[in-house]
Amino acid sequence: MAITPHPNSQATLIVPTLTRADPVRLEKAIDGLFQGTLTVTLTSTSEGHISALVKNSTRSYQVSLTADEVTCDCLDSLHRDTVCKHSLAVALFASRPPAQAPAVRHLLWSDGQVLCGA
Ligand SMILES: [Zn+2]
Repeated sequence: MAITPHPNSQATLIVPTLTRADPVRLEKAIDGLFQGTLTVTLTSTSEGHISALVKNSTRSYQVSLTADEVTCDCLDSLHRDTVCKHSLAVALFASRPPAQAPAVRHLLWSDGQVLCGA
């Protein structure tokens, strides 16, 4: 599978994580993101590190991606020493183009006049 990250993405973290993926876990991560059963909240991002909280219907998991290590506090990651679906969901989520990030919303009067930040 060829992966072409967005030029502004953190490709040095995301591509190695995805290429280490077990196909079954990758499919679960993709399904979870598309169906909304997994939600990803990036808590910290820098040049060499991504931290995120991944939630399913019952729990949340702390995921950390660096160039050398992928960690998650789920049982799959801790006991099987594998790249779990939560870590893959973070890598997929972080690889989206910036254009898909939430747009800035302005406060408006009812007549459409912008109150802030225009
Ligand atoms: Zn996990």
